[in-house]
Amino acid sequence: MRCPFCKAGNNRVLDSRASADGFAIRRRRECTACGRRFTTYERIEESPIRVVKKDGSREPFERRKILMGLLKACEKRPVSMDTLEKIVTSVDQTVADQFEREVPSQFIGRLCMRELRKADKVGYVRFASVYRDFKDVAEFVDEVKPLLRTGAKRSKPRAPAAKTQGKGRKKKPKK
Ligand SMILES: [Zn+2]
Repeated sequence: MRCPFCKAGNNRVLDSRASADGFAIRRRRECTACGRRFTTYERIEESPIRVVKKDGSREPFERRKILMGLLKACEKRPVSMDTLEKIVTSVDQTVADQFEREVPSQFIGRLCMRELRKADKVGYVRFASVYRDFKDVAEFVDEVKPLLRTGAKRSKPRAPAAKTQGKGRKKKPKK
């Protein structure tokens, strides 16, 4: 297993333990070259989770595919590989914790969006524009608006986007 930071091949295991569900072994490793630490998960290969796409087709869940999508969204952005790897690991873990056999692609997309939003707003908007097939421009603007607002207020990192959802929103009149 190569170090995600310096790509050296040697590391030592500091700690091994079963994951919360008991179906994975979590190993905390330390690179012998650069001394940085990272975590690996060992899982049973026989029951891979499959991703159910919008059209109903299925494909194997692959970390690599998620990473490629994130890389594309963050092209030429100041986002480190480490950050993207962490997002993928977080998505991988959440999927593994919540789904047994199949996971909707929308779920994965939303997770990625949530994490990217914290890491890089431009990357997030790019990812969102590719991932979500926005029905029209207005819908996309709705998605981006709260970001622009939070961008203005730098002192407060927490996004107030949730306020616009739910009760406050006026219902559309029925035809
Ligand atoms: Zn290293």
